[in-house]
Amino acid sequence: MLIQDAEFGEVIVRKNAFAKHVRFSVSPSGRLQMSVPSSTSEFLAKRLLKTNRSLIREKIPLSDPKTQRARDAKKRLLMKQARDYLPYRLDYFAKLYGYQYDKCRLSHAATRWGSCSSNRTISLNIGLMQVPEILRDYVIIHELAHLNHMDHSAAFWAEVASHDPKYKEHRNKLKQFSPGV
Ligand SMILES: [Zn+2]
Repeated sequence: MLIQDAEFGEVIVRKNAFAKHVRFSVSPSGRLQMSVPSSTSEFLAKRLLKTNRSLIREKIPLSDPKTQRARDAKKRLLMKQARDYLPYRLDYFAKLYGYQYDKCRLSHAATRWGSCSSNRTISLNIGLMQVPEILRDYVIIHELAHLNHMDHSAAFWAEVASHDPKYKEHRNKLKQFSPGV
């Protein structure tokens, strides 16, 4: 569960069957995270946040909430842009090259631009909206080629090359960018 808070931005609420009390910490992404007993409702979680506000300010080493809020806003914007673009671009290339995937999912993983699962779901990172189109297209082609080769074998790369002859250059250029928002 996620709570939008005016001061702390996006707050991650984790339900924990073994938790007896609320506990606050910093998530790997730098957000405020609260661990609560499984029975905790959103209403109660918000109230716990409210009553512990000064304790959080004092004890939890959060990065500047302003920075965090800016990051959240950017993420929302990228998500919106990605929703209006990536599924259509994926569909375009799939039709152009004759691939059949099952679903397109948008992700915001910090380390991966995309993935393709064995149930033919292709995930694309919303951070792709921040890289040049040619590199974005390379990622889409890369994931589509995984529908036929679930590895990075020579046959896989040959298939990528057949749609994107400059893929090596694109793969290298992509390393200058980070998928994390
Ligand atoms: Zn791959």
